[in-house]
Parts: sequence; structure tokens; C-alpha cells
Amino acid sequence: MPEQARAVIVGGGIVGCSVAYHLTTLGWRDVVLLEQGRLSGGTTWHAAGLVGQLRSSANLTRLIRYSADLYGRLEAETGQATGWKRCGSVSVARTAERMVQLKRNAALARAYGVDAEVIGLAEARRLYPPLRTDDLVGAVWLPGDGKVNPADVTQALARAARAGGARLREGVTVTGVRIAQGAAVGVETSEGPIAAEVVVNCAGMWARELGRLSNVPVPLHACEHMYMVTQPIAGVSPDLPVMRDPDGHVYFKEEVGGLLMGGFDPWAKPWGMNGIPEGFSFATLPEDWDKFEILMTNAITRVPMLEAAPVRLLMNGPESFTPDNYFILGEAPQVRRYYVAAGFCSGGIAAAGGAGRALAEWIVEDRPPMDLWPADIRRFAPFHADPRFLRERASEIVGVHYFVAFPNRELTSGRGLRRSPVHDQLRARGACFGAKMGWERANWFAPPGVSPETVYSFARQNWFPHAAAEHRAAREAVAVFDQTSFGKLLLEGPDAAGVLQRLCANDVDVPPGRLVYTGMLNERGGFETDVTVTRLAGDAYLIVTGSAQVTRDASWIRRHMPGQARAVLADVTGTWAVLGVMGPRSRQLLSRLTDADLSNEAFPFATMREIGLARAPVRASRITYVGELGWELYVPVEFAAGVYGALREAGGDLGLADAGYYAIDSLRMEKAYRAWGRELTTEDTPLEAGLAFAVRLDKPAAFLGREALLRMREQPLTRRLVTFVLEDGEALPLGDEPILCDGRIVGSVTSAAFGHTLGRAVAMGYVRHPDGVDGALLEGATFELDIAGERFKARAGLRAPYDPQGLRVKS
Ligand SMILES: Cc1cc2nc3c(=O)[nH]c(=O)nc-3n(C[C@H](O)[C@H](O)[C@H](O)COP(=O)(O)OP(=O)(O)OC[C@H]3O[C@@H](n4cnc5c(N)ncnc54)[C@H](O)[C@@H]3O)c2cc1C
Repeated sequence: MPEQARAVIVGGGIVGCSVAYHLTTLGWRDVVLLEQGRLSGGTTWHAAGLVGQLRSSANLTRLIRYSADLYGRLEAETGQATGWKRCGSVSVARTAERMVQLKRNAALARAYGVDAEVIGLAEARRLYPPLRTDDLVGAVWLPGDGKVNPADVTQALARAARAGGARLREGVTVTGVRIAQGAAVGVETSEGPIAAEVVVNCAGMWARELGRLSNVPVPLHACEHMYMVTQPIAGVSPDLPVMRDPDGHVYFKEEVGGLLMGGFDPWAKPWGMNGIPEGFSFATLPEDWDKFEILMTNAITRVPMLEAAPVRLLMNGPESFTPDNYFILGEAPQVRRYYVAAGFCSGGIAAAGGAGRALAEWIVEDRPPMDLWPADIRRFAPFHADPRFLRERASEIVGVHYFVAFPNRELTSGRGLRRSPVHDQLRARGACFGAKMGWERANWFAPPGVSPETVYSFARQNWFPHAAAEHRAAREAVAVFDQTSFGKLLLEGPDAAGVLQRLCANDVDVPPGRLVYTGMLNERGGFETDVTVTRLAGDAYLIVTGSAQVTRDASWIRRHMPGQARAVLADVTGTWAVLGVMGPRSRQLLSRLTDADLSNEAFPFATMREIGLARAPVRASRITYVGELGWELYVPVEFAAGVYGALREAGGDLGLADAGYYAIDSLRMEKAYRAWGRELTTEDTPLEAGLAFAVRLDKPAAFLGREALLRMREQPLTRRLVTFVLEDGEALPLGDEPILCDGRIVGSVTSAAFGHTLGRAVAMGYVRHPDGVDGALLEGATFELDIAGERFKARAGLRAPYDPQGLRVKS
């Protein structure tokens, strides 16, 4: 056993081996991988081996395309076969709604550079002869999809890692991670300690427990996951594509001349509630034919030949699932140089190549190589790792794989974790809630007689007219939004201003009582976050961020605080409720409840005042995310119910409406207000995003990302955020649609919503053009959005689609 290593990887599944291999390809020779049992003996050995390329984000798709490419060439590199076969895949639709999703996927695939073709049923049958088609609506063909033998890929990666200098040790259990000054510095093992610069937790379903030992939340839970394999069947050859019937929850793959059929149970069985049993290696779980019946029945409907096929085995193996069905990657926000790659939600074979490379690059460069936010470990808070919550959620999340991916689809399990103090009042007023970062948030309000339940569809959903009324109230009268879920961070201390000046692209060295909208950028000039910073006092700032970004932003700020900085950061999200009072009559409404002077002169835009309102001490911020005159009221939680009640009472004759997040979406889209994670990611700069106004290149303090922006300013912008207004009033983009310029794909939609004031759908998205993207290009070219395979014309621009009086917000 070595006594020290540069990197210690815990876990010798496909993921750990991939990380080890890729670290060596990046020049790290001193890599040690420790596996408690034998390589691939955890979950990897019994995986079905499907490698489907398409994922919901361009970068995650890119990772899997890299995996496919890697698995295709590893044999030549190592002499170890991987079983990679590019057999293609057919996905079929039983319903019209599913077909919309398949068409949307095909369009998405084209935007991501993945071959995909919508095919007729005769063609589906030609490609997949055992398929029953008489009850189907249509199908999609992805010729680049493939399959592998997971254990063989793991061995090939291990062999390649060893060739690169890595040492792989089997039969060694990591019993703890050594931490000094907030950073991982080694591991304790059954064979003695190893000092290390970096520790990587690739422990599969054991990763949560291993993380817990170091206070690193790794929210995943194992679930039973099954497939069956038949004896060889005449006519089933290794060239048979993979076939998915998501409406039946099942997939099929050729396996040694027979069929492997598995699926995603709509309500799966969590497993390992009392921990994973000791010595669980190359182990399976008892067959459960009762649980498998729903899959079997559906499978026989789709492939009738299965009924008579002798079954060779029913495999029941555990796999780990996360609360949102995306894997967990990256450096733990709690411990420096402690990395995690786990929770692969039944996609670890497909993802391992690309995820392993991305994590290796992340480790070597000390920053993510691309925007990987959907999989980033910082999207979670510690409460996500609560075992009871995970158990509940894991059971639902398995089936989500094959759910119809309706827009706004909410999960039903693990709900009600975080509630605003006005939650019950909003419920009584007809709120239909959705969940974000554990918060219950009102999405829309059902008027009397309407049930507050969203009916999902790809067309206008049932809440459309109600959200439209909320939207109009905010534009024409006044609306109240419960925005309590905003992330709130307090930075205090004599060096608070200095710390923030270094991190923020805008100038935040402003007098107390001023608010500044700003990005925090990385050294490449990309958005790590966008926040509103309020100077509360000379040595105190309130940083308000998106609900889902708190862990990430806190981690970013802490990591960039110089060691000697006299400043303390605290997450104060739960301290204040936030009531957004927005609309042209907001001043009139609030004036009824306060003696404070709310005039534009006394209380201008982008300022904050502490006022008494409805007998409560309130921090009122003159700011808006909906594009109207308005105030965000930061109310101590214990006063919030009273303030909300007073607003309701005082606002009746002014047309005060309760409004939810769907209205916020349509309002902000009309005003082209960007959202972090959609329009703003680590790969988008303020120049490309059209937010140069919120950057002060000339401020006295140099800030992170400034150099990159200065370099960028020298060249024409070949990629820019563009707004679109759809010509056809019925067109309904939902986000992610390809953008076409004169018939060529030039980008994809980042967000879309129906703009109720404009009477048209509005979208935003980045457009690329090698000669630069400017007004002339946008006016001269024809722009279209590909919505589920149909093209819709759109008017493109660099300005907000709705901005009749730019100053309205500010007067
Ligand atoms: C039935 C089934 C079908 C599947 N089909 C597919 C598919 O078709 N396509 C696909 O992409 N994915 C599929 N998967 C998912 C895939 O198998 C997993 O996502 C993948 O194997 C996860 O790999 P891993 O390396 O993260 O975990 P594992 O393979 O479980 O590796 C983790 C390793 O860490 C070791 N370890 C844990 N704790 C310690 C410790 N303290 N010290 C030392 N070692 C430790 C364990 O022994 C284990 O070997 C399927 C899964 C199942 C169950």
C-alpha cells in the first residue's frame, strides 16, 4: 500500500476507473484507486449496457457522445474488448403526447449535433422486426446509440489507467477521509492511511455513507432495478437495435442471441434502508416477479414473441438515484479537494466516459471544464441527503425516466419540506404549488370554483387563463408575489466591501441603502451567478440570489475570500419572507400601510429603506423582476402573515391579485430579464448576454473575469443572446427548441413563455454567427424556432420585446 498519492479514488466501478484513467491521460501519474471488493463488483457488473446519447442539456449529451467514442476505441488502445456496438435505437410512442415529446427530442438532438430521425411505423418495424406497431403512433430513430459490456469497459479503463501509471488496489476499504483546514488531505483505509492532495468519492450507492463521515451530503438512495434475459430467440441478432417503449416503461436489447428486457417501474422499491450490507459484491437481490409484472405485461404487448421465450434470468440489482434524476459531479462545497462522482440514476455506463473525463479535468484545472450545472453537486443543500426524504423521492424518481416530459411537471413525493410563512394563506386563496430547492412556491392561483391542480400537456395548460389574469394585474394594477424562496446571504465585516468588489463585475462600493444588480464572473468572464447586492451598512451586504443557487453562491464567495479577510458569510434565507408588490398601483397600495415617503424622489429605483409597514419592520427594496414599478418587501418571518393579510385587505379596491411563478415567467420574458442557469451560465459572459450595463470595467478594484471581458471586447461578438417574438399567436415554444437562421441551426432556446401583454410567445436564446451577431443580421435574416419538428417564424431582436416606456419601472 502506498503511503501517499496525488489523488485517491474511492470505488472501482466504471466511474472510478474512468476518473483514474482520465487523470492519467492529463498527466497525473500518482493516482491510487481503492476498491473494497473487486473491480466492477458494485452496480456496474450487472448493468444492461445501453448507451443512449441524448440528454436534456447540450453538455450532458456531449459527455455521453464522448463516452461512445471512447468505448469504441478503448479496445485498440488496451487490447481489452468493451463490447461496444453502434446498433442504434428506436423509441416508440403509444400516445399523441408521447409523440410530441419524441419529436421535441429529435429536434433537440439536431440542435446538439446528434443524428435523429422521426420515422413511420413501417420503418420502425423494418429496423426492429419483433415490434408490434398496430397500437403505436410513431417512432424516432437514433442511429448513433449503442451498447457495451459494462464489466469489460471497466476492465479496459482499469487497464488503460494502470498503463498510465495509476495503482488500482482491490480488497481495500476506505473507512474515512482525512480533512485539515477545510480540505481533504488523505484517507483512512482497512490497510492504513494514505496522504493525498485530492480525494474522489466514486463509491456508487455507498457514496452517501462515505460522504456523511466527512459532512459532505451526497443525496442518493439505492432502488431495486430489474431486467430479464431470455434464452436465444430465432431472428434476434447482435445487430438488433435497442428499442424503448417509454409508455410501457420498458426497453429491449439483444443479449447473447436472446432479448434483455428491463424498465423503469413507475413506483420503484427503495433498497438498503439500513445501509448496504457488508460484503455486498457481485451480489443481486431476490427476484420479485410481482413487481416485475407491470413491465412484463407491457413488454409482451410490444414484443409479442417474448411471451413464448424461455426466461434465462431475472436480474434484480440495486442502483442509486438522486432527488432529481441527474447524477452528482464536482467538488463538494463543504470540503476543498473532495470530489464526488456518484448517483448515476441508471445512466452510469453511458455517462462514465464523459463524466470521468469532465471530473478529471475539473480536478486538474480546479474548475469545471464546462457548464455542468444540471449535474453539479452544488445544486443540493444538506437537507437533500436526509434518508427519509431520499427514500420517498427515489421511489418516484426511477419512473420519471420514462414519464412524458411535460413542461412544468412537478414531482409529487418529498414535498412540503420548506414553507413560506404565508403558505397556508396562499393555499386558502387557491395557490397551486410547485417545488424548488425544497420550497413550496405558488405557481398559479385557481379562482373560486377551479381546482388548483395543473393538468399537464404540451399545449396551453389549464392554468393559462389564470396566469394571464395575474400577469395583467401586475402590468395594469398591482399583484403580490410570495418570493420568500429567494436565496439570501449576509456578508459582514470590515473587509466585506473589498471581498465583494473583487467578486462582482458591477461596482458595489455604493452608499448604504443602494442596490446593485451584478454578475459574479469566473476568470473566463462567464456567470457564476447573478445577484442583487444591497449595502445595508458600511460593513454589511445582503446578497439576494435564485432559490436554487444558495449553496453554490455561498461556496463561490467563501472560496474566493482571502484567508485573512475580516468578513463572515451567513445564509439568512430563512430569516426573511419576501413579498413582491408589483404593478403601477403598488405605490398607492403600500402608501396605505406606511407613513414612509414612497415618492420617486424619496425612494428612488435601486434603493432599500427600512420602513414600518402594516406595523412590521420591513426592508423595502425598490427593484423588480417583472418590469413594473414595485417593491420587494423583506419581512421578518414572524411578521409576514400579518403583512400579507394587511396587503390583501388594503388592496381589494385597487385590483390586487395574488400571482405566482408562471406569471413571473411571462412577465420577465417580455422584459427579457435573464435567468441564471438558463440565459446566464458559466459559459456566457455579460457581453454576450447583453448585460454590459451591469459591468464596471473602470471601477477602481479589479474584479474576477475583467481581463477576459477586456479581451473579448476587442473582437466582434460571434454569439449573442437574442429575444424572439413568435409571429403565430398559437405557437408555444417551451424552451430548448432549435433556433434557425435562414434555415440553418444557429442555437437553441434558453427560456420561453407566452407573453400575455404581447399576445404572443416570447423566447430567448443564444445565436451564433462567425461574422458577428448584430442588429443588421437580426433584421436581415429569417429566424424560425423548430417546435416539435414544425418551424415557426419569429422576430429577432437584441432588446426587450416589451418595453413601452423604459422608465416606467424607475418612476
Ligand atoms: C439493472 C440495472 C441496469 C442498468 N442498465 C444500465 C444501462 O443500460 N445503461 C447505463 O448507462 N447504466 C445502467 N445501469 C446503471 C449503472 O450500472 C450504474 O449507473 C453504474 O454502474 C454506476 O457505476 P459506479 O462506478 O458509480 O458504481 P459502482 O459500480 O457501484 O461502483 C462503486 C464501487 O465503490 C466501491 N466502494 C464503495 N465504498 C467503498 C469504500 N468505502 N472503499 C472502497 N471501495 C468502496 C464499491 O465496492 C463499488 O465497487 C443499470 C443499473 C442496474 C442496476
